[in-house]
Amino acid sequence: QAAPAAPVTLVTGAASGIGEATARLFAERGHRVVAVDVQEEGLAKLGTLDGVATLLGDVAEESTNTAAVELALERFGRLDAAVLNAGIGGAGPLEAPGAIERFDRLFAVNVRSVVLGIRSAVPALRASGGGSIVATSSVSGLRGDPGTWGYNATKAAVINLVRATAIDYAAQNIRVNAIAPGGTATALTAGQIADPDFSAFITGRIPAHRWSDPREQAEVIWFLTSPAASYVTGVTVPVDGGLSAN
Ligand code: NAD
Repeated sequence: QAAPAAPVTLVTGAASGIGEATARLFAERGHRVVAVDVQEEGLAKLGTLDGVATLLGDVAEESTNTAAVELALERFGRLDAAVLNAGIGGAGPLEAPGAIERFDRLFAVNVRSVVLGIRSAVPALRASGGGSIVATSSVSGLRGDPGTWGYNATKAAVINLVRATAIDYAAQNIRVNAIAPGGTATALTAGQIADPDFSAFITGRIPAHRWSDPREQAEVIWFLTSPAASYVTGVTVPVDGGLSAN
């Protein structure tokens, strides 16, 4: 009897930070990975790893999401999990010029992409007999923060999108969950970490008193996609050093 095929996982926002850590962790553990991003350089590095296929594209566009699933099926023959992780930061002050245009883009990248990602992945997951979707929300979706109203709104939307789609797909053996990272050391937060006062403000309110390593986020994504989490669906798991418990 032939050995079972290695699972295939799609990761968006894979060129940097949490997505990169996830793509690397899954590749190390024997998954084949389709890595999607708008950043060519980061993708090229991932593309040198065994069993990683890359796709350059904007996840706010439906065509990127359908092409990513097609790539998984063409290259690897199946899809088992989708990690919908790509995201961008704040829209700036609410009353500033251009805030609404920035908010529309923020919503497209942080929320529309998750809707499109689920829509594209579900038929392929169904064909595999089921599967797992994990979106990256944020502790900012669970609480208010000063000055990040737009970002917080998008991340709260992801939490309820995950709940509702989990209900719709549970009977098809497709699980939908999210992680809610706290402050994690990535390109997104590099400016904050470089500013000692701001960094101390952030770590001061985290019970663990430190930033998270992206790999700590990837480990929880790994768990949520794994058979160990086979009865877990519709939840958002904070991975935040206790911030949301505080
Ligand atoms: P990051 O900037 O290091 O990585 C994000 C990746 O997404 C980048 O490679 C970027 O090119 C890609 N990306 C952005 N827009 C895209 C688009 N339209 N299409 C395709 N790819 C796109 O940041 P990160 O911290 O790793 O962020 C990953 C996710 O984690 C985001 O959804 C972010 O909101 C969330 N998050 C981060 C933190 C944190 O503290 N770093 C906390 C909570 C949630």
